[in-house]
Amino acid sequence: MAPRRFGGPKLVVATHNAGKAAEIGVMLAPFGVQVLSHGELGLAVPEETGTTFLENAELKARAAARATNLPSLADDSGLSVHALDGQPGLYTADWEGPNRDAMTGMARIQRELAARGVADTPEARAATFNCALALAWPDGHVESVLGQLRGSIVWPPRGENGHGYDPTFRPDGWNLTCGEMDPDVKNRISHRADAFARLVERCFR
Ligand code: IMP
Repeated sequence: MAPRRFGGPKLVVATHNAGKAAEIGVMLAPFGVQVLSHGELGLAVPEETGTTFLENAELKARAAARATNLPSLADDSGLSVHALDGQPGLYTADWEGPNRDAMTGMARIQRELAARGVADTPEARAATFNCALALAWPDGHVESVLGQLRGSIVWPPRGENGHGYDPTFRPDGWNLTCGEMDPDVKNRISHRADAFARLVERCFR
């Protein structure tokens, strides 16, 4: 079946992160999309009970579309370490502890890798950043995509740029971590950029 296209113009962005909502607004502006943020509409955030990034993005998008009667976009992202069978994955933010500090999460990743005797080489420390995006309509229809950035874990962290795990992740084909890169470059090659390109191709072009 052909993907459903966004007919616009109003789109709810189901995130309480104002920065994320603004960034999405800028990315979709060329397609005549008028973005309304979750926070601005005072919506509740549903429990993330999915078992994949896609399921979590879809359930958040569906809940927002039902509550607002408008097409709604939601995301879910995280870091999967291959030698840890994909952990922390959906629980990336949880591993960061109550202060939501990615270096706390990465220290745990290092402990788990050491406990499994994983070698300190880029091949053994392969990881993927994932970003799922889901666009849901009030009738329950959903279009969703998964964007990825493959690379390896770097410890100790390198670089001051970016956010979260950026200083501890080196994308394949680069000698720099995401924390050392120019943020414009990181934003061009990121899992989020990949997901957006896929969604735009599917629903907005
Ligand atoms: P969220 O679902 O976007 O809130 O992401 C979950 C967690 O993954 C965050 O707490 C971040 O630490 C981490 N994360 C997601 N995307 C990135 C990124 O682009 N760089 C670094 N960390 C990220």
